[in-house]
Amino acid sequence: MSFDSILIANRGEIALRINRAAKSLGLKVIQAHSKADADSLPVRLADQAVEIGPPQAAKSYLAIPNIIEAAKASGAGAVHPGYGFLAENAEFAAAVEAAGMVFVGPKPETIATMGDKVKAREAAAAAGVPVVPGSEGRIDGLEAAKAAAAAIGYPLLIKASAGGGGRGIRIVRSDDELAQQLSTAQGEAKAAFGDGGVYLEAFIDRARHVEVQILGDGQDAIHAYERECSLQRRRQKVWEEAPSPSLDEATREELCASAVRLARHVGYRGAGTLEYLYDENRRAFYFIEMNTRIQVEHPVSEMVTGLDLVAAMIEIARGKPLPVTQDQVRLSGHAIECRINAEDPARNFMPGPGTISGLRVPEGPGLRFDSHLFEGYLVPPFYDSLLGKLIVHGSDRTEALARLTGALDGLAVEGVPTTRALHQALAADPEVRAGRFDTNFLERWLEERAATLGIGAKGD
Ligand code: ADP
Ligand code: ADP
Ligand code: MG
Repeated sequence: MSFDSILIANRGEIALRINRAAKSLGLKVIQAHSKADADSLPVRLADQAVEIGPPQAAKSYLAIPNIIEAAKASGAGAVHPGYGFLAENAEFAAAVEAAGMVFVGPKPETIATMGDKVKAREAAAAAGVPVVPGSEGRIDGLEAAKAAAAAIGYPLLIKASAGGGGRGIRIVRSDDELAQQLSTAQGEAKAAFGDGGVYLEAFIDRARHVEVQILGDGQDAIHAYERECSLQRRRQKVWEEAPSPSLDEATREELCASAVRLARHVGYRGAGTLEYLYDENRRAFYFIEMNTRIQVEHPVSEMVTGLDLVAAMIEIARGKPLPVTQDQVRLSGHAIECRINAEDPARNFMPGPGTISGLRVPEGPGLRFDSHLFEGYLVPPFYDSLLGKLIVHGSDRTEALARLTGALDGLAVEGVPTTRALHQALAADPEVRAGRFDTNFLERWLEERAATLGIGAKGD
């Protein structure tokens, strides 16, 4: 279990985040990178760098043999997968272990179970955690689908068991639509995720997305409270907070306890997130899925608990016990994160790669900017458009919002389009300021403002 060097099998801001955590623990950092990332900050700030292939992710960051070979050749003792790419790939985790290295994350079997939404729902139910009403397991044919739909009721969702990143979900409003969409959904899931398995889930209208951060050591588990991630576009998170403005104390405790129960039930090891939908009117929460990895929005939890979640997951991988006990995890203040993407809100969020010609990063109390940008950096067109995450902390939500407004005003990223103006408009919106929003709020909001703000609506 012990290791003193770590290979980072990822790129961008999360690679830098892992770099910092690893160095704070005295580890040697080896950065795996594609040809397109040879000049990137994670490469420059690593102790050693290894090229793993051409720019296309399929031939580099997703190429298991290339990464295993690079890790072995560099003498790495462990591999950190970050998020996205191979982070939830059980085959990759197993290949790392088979090559004699430590995978910083859960056991491959846990990834295989909890990364499959149908199996994760079964595990949740077995641990006494409420799940969204849905089909019993995967749906095979249309007759089984119609029978399940009759019990669930419309509208409902067809969801890919292996889906992720907001993809593999479609809404269905009638038996006819179900008949039309089922086989298309199966075919698309097969093409996109290599697994055509789908299941049905009740569509919960006006729900909030609330998720619980957990840390496990294989036996015991603790939680680091919840995050509110309802502000989404195309089912992808745009703005996240901790704690959720929608929960009362009793519900918060119940929700977090349910997450710990599930984590213990599966003997979870490492950092993970249990995602739920929360129905405010009924004060009911329903498990939807687990992410068996560090998440993009982990910093808001770090800001309100003082934990270093990435260092914790590395220490757990080294065989150390959990860094704190549950009663040492205290919620303090409020944190908000805005994802700053290289996308143009006025042009339907079209990605805009290019060279960063100017950069001004705000500083001050309660501010954090997790980013791999520097002046002169070329944002490549091959990957996710996340440029950085602006994170603020305040003694309460009002102070956090005030700091966010100042920080957004102070942030300047020149040379590429960014989503900064969208966040400025959201931070000024009375409903957002009051904490009143659900998972469809942002899409409705964008539609209403498409004409006036020059900010694009959804569409495809
Ligand atoms: P988070 O809650 O951490 O934001 P996401 O589900 O948005 O989690 O995923 C984080 C990153 O991983 C994003 O860049 C997303 O696009 C990517 N991602 C997650 N799952 C998949 C998948 N199955 N296929 C492709 N990309 C994915
Ligand atoms: P992914 O793996 O792509 O992140 P999730 O199951 O987490 O998929 O769902 C992504 C988003 O889709 C949720 O955050 C929520 O906004 C919406 N969603 C998922 N399931 C439901 C549901 N049953 N009812 C309403 N919205 C849902
Ligand atoms: Mg999700």
